[in-house]
Amino acid sequence: MKRKRTCRHCHRLFIPVHNPQQQFCSRSKCQNVRKSAWRREKHKRDSDYRENQNQNQACKWWRKKNPEYWKHYRATHSPYTEGNRYKQRQRKQAFYKGPEPPHPNKATQFANSDALIVKISFIPKGCQQRGEVCKHTTL
Ligand SMILES: [Zn+2]
Repeated sequence: MKRKRTCRHCHRLFIPVHNPQQQFCSRSKCQNVRKSAWRREKHKRDSDYRENQNQNQACKWWRKKNPEYWKHYRATHSPYTEGNRYKQRQRKQAFYKGPEPPHPNKATQFANSDALIVKISFIPKGCQQRGEVCKHTTL
């Protein structure tokens, strides 16, 4: 038993002949609509496809033209970020220490624990220096 479908164009019921997914009836008017819709869709897909291809090509071409860049990038990337992190840590440390570290043990903790540094970075400006000062200003 074949299932009837509604034509997407004329909304009449029809029995799909060519494939069960058929969305238009066999009237020539509806078939023309289907064909032009298909052409539009194909054209859209094709231009998307072409664009992608072009981008891929450009990317490949660029990499081919700049092999040194990638070698250089790979060779330098991780030391570079490491260095950056180190510098950041140095800056943060200088900031939190203030004039003198509140406690020698705490100072080394600050240097070794990123989590602690990140947490402390949210303390408002007035509270930079010492815990006692902070208590007085906030209460
Ligand atoms: Zn139709």
